[in-house]
Amino acid sequence: MALIVQKYGGTSVGTVERIKHVAKRIVASKRQGHQLVVVVSAMGKSTDDLIALAKQICDPPVPREYDALLATGEKVSAALVAMAIHAQGEKAVSLTGGQAGVVTESVYSKARIRKVNPERIFKELEKDQIVIVTGFQGESPEGDIITIGRGGSDTSAVILAAAIKADVCEIFTDVDGIYTTDPRICPAARKLDSIAYEEMLELASLGAGVMHPRSVEAGLEHGIVIHVRSSMHESSGTLIKEASTMEREKAVTGVALADEQAKMVIRDVPDKPGVAATIFSALGENKINVDMIIQATQKDGTNSITFTLDQDDLKPALRVLEEIAKMYSGSKIEYNDQIAKVSIVGVGMISQPGVAAKMFKTLADNGINIELISTSEIKISCAIAKAQGVKAVNALHKAFELDTVRQPQLV
Ligand code: ADP
Ligand code: ASP
Ligand code: MG
Repeated sequence: MALIVQKYGGTSVGTVERIKHVAKRIVASKRQGHQLVVVVSAMGKSTDDLIALAKQICDPPVPREYDALLATGEKVSAALVAMAIHAQGEKAVSLTGGQAGVVTESVYSKARIRKVNPERIFKELEKDQIVIVTGFQGESPEGDIITIGRGGSDTSAVILAAAIKADVCEIFTDVDGIYTTDPRICPAARKLDSIAYEEMLELASLGAGVMHPRSVEAGLEHGIVIHVRSSMHESSGTLIKEASTMEREKAVTGVALADEQAKMVIRDVPDKPGVAATIFSALGENKINVDMIIQATQKDGTNSITFTLDQDDLKPALRVLEEIAKMYSGSKIEYNDQIAKVSIVGVGMISQPGVAAKMFKTLADNGINIELISTSEIKISCAIAKAQGVKAVNALHKAFELDTVRQPQLV
């Protein structure tokens, strides 16, 4: 008997038929003698619908009520999945994040999970119940409903798996595993049998929406092997796990695209200590994440500072920068909201020279202009025009021979 955590994403519970299908899979696992804790996302695009609804009433929405509203999406699917399981002859109980003991920090919309008190889950399992938990949410120590960021049900699942010391953590989704890049934009993408946590963390943070980045971080921290697989087919998917120390044949494991990016420039600020600190502290205080940063010194003792950020953060960032610009007379703000970030990721690039040059040449050969560059040990990212994002992904996928990928060696 194994203790299994399964997570089903929005598409997988998107219709009544799919809910019945998911219930069938859950019941089959139960009848094999396993104990099951199942985390569900909201049905289909219902979280988007709730956001649109909120914005018709009040924009920006009141943070506390926004979270209370968004959390209802997962309550609907959890209750329906529990009902579908009952209809198939097994016992199931749906629990909200709070009822399941998920305690978050007291920050609305993007909270981190602080701890899980799993007593209620264990009590229900002892009663032979299949436990269905709403993903994407928990409760603050003050007892308020809190959500943990878009796509966060993956993180709910991995953290619950760690808290109850599950034997298996399965993420069921609408693709049959992790691919070398998003198979919806690159037909040559190949499924990987396994991928290292560090690579998956980079890919997820750089736009590969298949996994919530914090779920991979949690997997790494707690040593949870995450099995990403299809909710529609039986085939096994991709294991996210420790990398081996064996050297890689290929420099690059995957390509990611984040195409909802923006670029901002603040020009003609004084070239003196403290200016960058002032700008980025103000952005940080307003919870605006910036990514690639370039500072260029101009002839007349001034600098221009350019950075990228999520499109969603553009409006608040403009408000912050307009205040800052008042401190530096003559400074100007420019922005472009049609930016994409294309990235190559692979632990193999640590040992292989010339990877950056090959990336830049590939983009140049395809007539794609690079606006900003950032690198880490295992990734290189370039900001480019949004309209060229898909072309860039396909060109890089080919140039780094990912269409002929051999599985990386993992332990
Ligand atoms: P769920 O609703 O199950 O959480 P998501 O929509 O969040 O599913 O994630 C699955 C989607 O992620 C896929 O449909 C696919 O288009 C996209 N995706 C992006 N990058 C990758 C990748 N490298 N491998 C697989 N899927 C990817
Ligand atoms: N329903 C939430 C969202 O759409 C959480 C999730 O699906 O993981 O972002
Ligand atoms: Mg998801």
